[in-house]
Amino acid sequence: MKVQDLTDAILEYLPDADVDIILNAYIYSAKAHRGQSRRSGEAYFSHPLEVANNLVKLKLDATTVAAGLLHDTIEDTLSTSEEIQELFGEEIFQLVDGVTKISKIHFSSHEESQAENYRKMIFAMARDIRVVLIKLADRAHNMQTLGSLSEERQRRIARETLEIYAPIANRLGIGWMKNELENGSFRYLYPEEYRTIEEKVAKGKEYRDKYVEKVTSRLVKELEDAEISGKVDGRPKQFFSIYRKMMDQNISFEEVYDLVGVRVLTESLRDCYSVLGLVHSLWKPIPGKFKDYIAMPKPNMYQSLHTTVIGPRGERVEVQIRSREMHKVSEGGIAAHWRYKEKEDSAEKTMNQQLLWVRHLLENQKDLKNPKEFLNAFKVNLFPDS
Ligand code: MN
Repeated sequence: MKVQDLTDAILEYLPDADVDIILNAYIYSAKAHRGQSRRSGEAYFSHPLEVANNLVKLKLDATTVAAGLLHDTIEDTLSTSEEIQELFGEEIFQLVDGVTKISKIHFSSHEESQAENYRKMIFAMARDIRVVLIKLADRAHNMQTLGSLSEERQRRIARETLEIYAPIANRLGIGWMKNELENGSFRYLYPEEYRTIEEKVAKGKEYRDKYVEKVTSRLVKELEDAEISGKVDGRPKQFFSIYRKMMDQNISFEEVYDLVGVRVLTESLRDCYSVLGLVHSLWKPIPGKFKDYIAMPKPNMYQSLHTTVIGPRGERVEVQIRSREMHKVSEGGIAAHWRYKEKEDSAEKTMNQQLLWVRHLLENQKDLKNPKEFLNAFKVNLFPDS
C-alpha cells in the first residue's frame, strides 16, 4: 500500500481533509520504524500503514489516520512524547499517547485487576473515542498476523480480543470489525472446532450457493413486479456465530439451519416494510422469529428487520431487510457518524447517544462499592443483548 492510497481514499469521503498531516506522519513513522521488522519478517512499517488503512475504512478524520500511522512510535522507536507533541500538535499526541497507554493494559483473569483494566478502558473511551477506534484498528491487523507468534501468545491475544475488543466493536456498532475480530480469535482459541466448521461449510457450499441464488432471483423478480428498488444479496454466516449458536443452543452443526441468509437493502425505511410484506406473502414466516429492530433499535443503534421463513424446498431462510442508510450504520457504527460531526448537529446527537452508556457507567461508578460490581455493570453494558 502507498500513502497515496490513503490520501485518495480519505479525500473521497472528506474532500477538505488535511492531507499534509497524513503525509508528514507517513514520512516520520517510516523513518522512525526504519530497520525494524515484524515477527512475520515483513518491514515493521507495514503495520502502522495497515492500521491507518483500517481507520480509513472506518471513514475517520485525517487527525485519527495520522495518529494511526504514528501509534507505535512512542512505544517502539526512539521517538519521544515531546517530539510527537512538537511536530504534530497536542491533539495527535493525545491520541498516540492514549493508544500507548491502552496497549499496556493486560487483561488478566484476576477479577480485581480486570475491573481496574475495564475502568481504564472506559475512561479512555469517554475522553476520546478515537483512541479506542485506533486500538481496534491495531488489534484487527495484529489478528491477521497472529500466525507468526508463539502458541502461548496467540492464545493470550486471541482471548483478550474475544473477551474485550470484539464486544467493544460490537457495542460501537462496527459490524465488519466485530466479525473479523471474532473469527480471528475463534481460529486460534479453538483451532479444532474452527477447522471442523470450515470443512463442513465448504462441503455444503455448492448446494447452499445454488439455493441462495434461487431465493435471491425470486426476490429480485418480486421487487421488480412491485416496483420497489433494492439490492438483494446472499449472506454467508460467520464461522464464529455458527459456533456460538451451537454452544448456546447445545445443537450440532447440522441443526444450525440458517447457515445462509439473504439481505435486502432498500432505498427507504418505508420500503423495508413493503419488502417484509412481500417476503411473508411468498414464504411462510416461522412464529417467534420476526424482529423489528427498526422500530426498536439495538442498543448499538443497529436497525433492521429480521425474519425467518420456510423458503423453497421447505428450507429455512433468514431474511434481513434494511435501508442503505441503516446498513451504513450497521457496518460503520459510531464511526459512520463521526465524519459528519462538524457539519450536522443531528449526527453528533446520534453519536452522543451511542456513547451515553459510557458516560452513565462513569457517573455511576462512584456508587459501585467494589471491583466486582463495576465489572458486572460494565458487562451488562457491553453485552446488552444477552
Ligand atoms: Mn500496533
